[in-house]
Amino acid sequence: LKLHNLTRVYRTEDVETLALNNVNIEIAQGEFVAIMGPSGCGKSTLLNTIGMLDSPSSGEYWFNDENIAGYSEAQLASIRKRNIGFIFQNFNLIDELTVEENIELALLYHNIPSAERKAKVAEVMDKVGIAHRAKHMPSQLSGGQQQRVAVARAVVGEQKMILADEPTGNLDSVHGEEVMEMLQALNKEGTTIVMVTHSPAHADYAKRTINLFDGSVVTENVRAA
Ligand code: ADP
Ligand code: ADP
Repeated sequence: LKLHNLTRVYRTEDVETLALNNVNIEIAQGEFVAIMGPSGCGKSTLLNTIGMLDSPSSGEYWFNDENIAGYSEAQLASIRKRNIGFIFQNFNLIDELTVEENIELALLYHNIPSAERKAKVAEVMDKVGIAHRAKHMPSQLSGGQQQRVAVARAVVGEQKMILADEPTGNLDSVHGEEVMEMLQALNKEGTTIVMVTHSPAHADYAKRTINLFDGSVVTENVRAA
């Protein structure tokens, strides 16, 4: 993906906030990128823009060689559901659905038969180690377990990119490390990971860190392999 001279201005009654200011970023398939910077610098706006949940005010967003600026909400949703998985700090599971139903929901747009859906859900539950909780409700799980479900939901449709907004922010250090190791394993299989984090230790899992300040990219650090 490529962001070219991308700007996002939030306008409220009397205030204009330049949340992203002329940002230029390229991320290749298979990269693991951390986004860091102080509160309010534009990290969530950047991630939501990459995830097509938020639209730029100006500039270009190229995704798989398509300029998606000007695409309709339906077109964006279709690209998003096929390509992008989301992981949030607060897990964002649906309280009224079981673990397996939460994961299966991410497949409903994929137009595959029910039996095949169930098989895929079973496979990812095994992969993230949550199969023994398939029939549980999110409220019956620990934070670490809920985030495993969110990881399963993010990859069950074979999405090529995961966007993670402080995925370890509500976890203790042991469970935070577990989530980081899952993301690292997915990255080794070829999944692109873009992650907002405040933790320098967790940013170390990424091969590149983009530092934002006041809506601008200020530095990029690449780690030796
Ligand atoms: P971060 O994730 O780094 O904390 P955000 O992307 O959430 O930063 O916010 C960047 C800037 O945009 C902040 O100044 C924030 O107050 C402002 N902002 C974010 N969302 C909105 C919104 N919906 N309306 C108005 N201003 C917003
Ligand atoms: P915050 O930045 O306050 O932590 P979230 O990360 O929970 O907020 O959500 C960021 C944005 O993504 C919100 O606009 C929210 O409505 C949207 N969002 C949250 N979960 C999903 C989801 N599973 N699919 C699509 N959009 C989502």
